Amino acid sequence: MIIVLKPDSTPAEVDHVLDRIRELGLKPHVSAGEHRTIIGVIGDETKLRAEPLQAIAGVEQVLPIMKPFKLASREMTKKDTVVLVGKVKIGGGAMGMIAGPCAIESLDVLDEIAGKVKAAGANILRGGAFKPRTSPYSFQGLGEDGLKFLQDVGKKHDMPVVTEVMDPRQIPVVEKYADMFQIGARNMQNFDLLKEIGQTKKPVLMKRAMSATVKDLLMSAEYVLSEGNPNVVLCERGVRSFEDSTRNMLDLSAVPNVKGQSHLPIIVDPSHATGRPDLIPAMALASVAAGADGIHIEVHSCPEKALSDGPQALLPPRYAELMKQIRKVAEVMGKMF
Ligand code: PEP
Ligand code: MN
Repeated sequence: MIIVLKPDSTPAEVDHVLDRIRELGLKPHVSAGEHRTIIGVIGDETKLRAEPLQAIAGVEQVLPIMKPFKLASREMTKKDTVVLVGKVKIGGGAMGMIAGPCAIESLDVLDEIAGKVKAAGANILRGGAFKPRTSPYSFQGLGEDGLKFLQDVGKKHDMPVVTEVMDPRQIPVVEKYADMFQIGARNMQNFDLLKEIGQTKKPVLMKRAMSATVKDLLMSAEYVLSEGNPNVVLCERGVRSFEDSTRNMLDLSAVPNVKGQSHLPIIVDPSHATGRPDLIPAMALASVAAGADGIHIEVHSCPEKALSDGPQALLPPRYAELMKQIRKVAEVMGKMF
């Protein structure tokens, strides 16, 4: 950490800062320039993180050297992390191809969709049983009944399953039926939920909140990692912007941006990012070219009857065609699924 003092800081103020640093068991290194003094702090920087050093008289700026997320950082772990979901690997060249309906609606509909996405090459089945809907009058999900359908259908088609958990009280039931927890965009900063999820060992699909920075996303992953669960897969799903012809604005640079800063895998969800089936294929292909470790797409056999997110669902034949194209781009990128 580097502490920059104000040009008019007094020798007494500088001494006070030095005393605080020593009190914390760290070593200050003073560089007294012609115009201002700069103090380098040697030792475990984490000891200073919670200290409001900026509040000390005479201090102008406090600059951390280490990233605020430690366990998630590339500095900490150089090698790409590979997260295992059932038998499916995500990261380190292996892609998680997640597909399925937005919501679990019935055993039959889910079964039909699962058979089709599996035949197209999907390796993880998705479907929500607890749905975070903007309106309390919209379909809220089938709850535990839906989770049972998801587990049964996943087993039948030999696919691990991922589903959203919105509340710490839902963790035990979701943990019982699912292979991976999904933390939705709306709950990315539900820190109590993240702490509880961190105490399980189940893989977590952490979606970026609509107004979260890449740093916020990595800090949320840090919550889960710091509680002892290392199995986090990040997901870029678009952020809110002034553009209103798409549901969100897909931030594709988040993929290489995250990869530079973190060892965690990152996948892309072009369905929620665009909200438009005509844009999803191009954005899925671009995501793979940007280095994504997987693609998350909502597929429905009859979008006009879907109980949630029907307008953005891809029909199974379009999904199958897209998967063929994705395989080609994945090969160029040295990835496989
Ligand atoms: C979903 O996956 O159906 C969903 C609600 O996603 P998000 O949290 O990204 O909006
Ligand atoms: Mn959805």
